[in-house]
Amino acid sequence: MSVAAALADIRARIALAAIAAGRNAKDITLVAVSKTHPEAMVAEAIAAGQMVFGENRVQEAERKFGGLLAANPGAKLHLIGGLQSNKAAAAVRLAHMIETLDRVRLADAIAQAAEAEGRCPVLLVQVNIGDESQKSGVATQAADGFIGAMRSRFGNALQGLMCIPPADADPTPYFRQLVRLADAHGLPVRSMGMSADFEAAIAAGATHVRVGSAIFGRRA
Ligand SMILES: *Cc1c(COP(=O)(O)O)cnc(C)c1O
Repeated sequence: MSVAAALADIRARIALAAIAAGRNAKDITLVAVSKTHPEAMVAEAIAAGQMVFGENRVQEAERKFGGLLAANPGAKLHLIGGLQSNKAAAAVRLAHMIETLDRVRLADAIAQAAEAEGRCPVLLVQVNIGDESQKSGVATQAADGFIGAMRSRFGNALQGLMCIPPADADPTPYFRQLVRLADAHGLPVRSMGMSADFEAAIAAGATHVRVGSAIFGRRA
């Protein structure tokens, strides 16, 4: 399937999932996750009207999106991978949104870079919603305190929460838990759901779904 056809299919599925949930599809942003796929495929997606993309590595994102973002002023890049503090400056320059704020050291680096650059991306706190040792994100027990601290530090730049539920479980309880946490903090953005589970995420209240392989094909 071409990228354009795959995008049309995913958009239709998002619309159906929104209707089924009694929601408006306009309130759900499709983040097309292009990691490992070439710039030419991103260009195809842009030509098909897709404007929001996700990448998980800063260097790959810089290489792939430097020219694309300059040439397409409406295009936006979300950084969705674990972010090292020493990459914060490049991330702040490049990203419309950083979805993976999960520790104070990274917050320090982002704040410093935002000051230097005179711009701050939209920020999401990543919550390790299944408290899995191999995943990044703030632990669920520490989430309330960390979100509150990031709210006071970044103000309205902090817009929401992101999670990746455990791979081998029903994701819905985890999605609901993230939504409760976002509600409790008055945060509007809930980034959750990937190729395998974005419809369940929409049913649970996702505002952003991050879909990669279902659009661009399998990753090597
Ligand atoms: C790769 C990735 C995705 C997309 O995963 P697919 O299963 O290919 O849709 C979404 N979110 C994050 C954080 C990712 O790293």
